[in-house]
Amino acid sequence: MQVTVLYGPRDVRFEERPDPTIVEPTDALIRLPVSCVCGSDLWPYRGIAPIDGPTPMGHEYVGIVEEVGSEVRLIELGQFVVGSFFASDNTCEICRAGYHSSCIHRQPGAPTGAQAQYARIPLADGTLVATPGLPPEDMIPSLLAASDVLGTGWFGAVAAEAGPGKTVAVVGDGAVGLLAVLAAKQLGAERIIAMSRHGSRQRLAREFGATEIVTERGEEGAERIKELTDGLGAHSVVEAVGTQESMMQAIRSTRAGGHVGFVGVLHDVEIPGEEFFFSHVHLHGGPAPVRRFLPELVDLIWNRKIDPGKVFDLTLPLEEVAEGYRAMDERRAIKTLLRP
Ligand SMILES: [Zn+2]
Repeated sequence: MQVTVLYGPRDVRFEERPDPTIVEPTDALIRLPVSCVCGSDLWPYRGIAPIDGPTPMGHEYVGIVEEVGSEVRLIELGQFVVGSFFASDNTCEICRAGYHSSCIHRQPGAPTGAQAQYARIPLADGTLVATPGLPPEDMIPSLLAASDVLGTGWFGAVAAEAGPGKTVAVVGDGAVGLLAVLAAKQLGAERIIAMSRHGSRQRLAREFGATEIVTERGEEGAERIKELTDGLGAHSVVEAVGTQESMMQAIRSTRAGGHVGFVGVLHDVEIPGEEFFFSHVHLHGGPAPVRRFLPELVDLIWNRKIDPGKVFDLTLPLEEVAEGYRAMDERRAIKTLLRP
């Protein structure tokens, strides 16, 4: 098959590799009808997160099951399935508590890379959720979004305790931030403030349920959130970037007793202890346990209650994946969909 491989900063190649095979009896092989590029792929792409030699890329996937190992019991050939970026057994104590992304048997969800034609999925029974049938073509991008960006934005909103009567602010207007807006709306938030300075992203945020837009960022952004909330700050703030500035913007936008849900992968962030101590802000986040939410998210998409696939604003043939990275790196695209 052909697969996307990152060789070093800004060096994305689409090259021939052996077809994945069943390695463990709990594996499944799936054919990928579409793939995509994640905002978190940009960290190694930009050289900020170093890689250890040529690395197959892509960790978001949906697909049709082509083969299963001898110990797979629940997942069947021909099913359409959605998984997440970590494989999990869905049975250990940590999974049962809803933290699948810290499963005691955790491993990469698509170790052969999902910006490809096929993928091997470990722990298939625990990792994969089958849809009720084969989805119509136009629904597939939304199901793919559930694999990571929707599941991650959803966890951000849940971790921030978004809900009825709450004012929710979202730091970050990438796909995860925009889908955190959608999640906050679904969770019943009263006001949703999207922090964005890009016209097309502001429009999508409003479509997903944002009631207000704040264009300031950093210190000024936090001040603006306070002004909009009687000087108190938001009840719930989702952090969906992962930088020092965005994390402090999130903490400083939150009222005493409020919650920050942080889902941007943190890079070199230091939280000043004394300020945090006196803030009375709850922090909860980390790699999203997407698997916890998948059954509910698949159901919402299947019944056309939400359309998270709108975050894909660029579609390219899979072999042009390098351009997909460039477009996201230069912020010309929110998220790139790739078709084999
Ligand atoms: Zn587990």
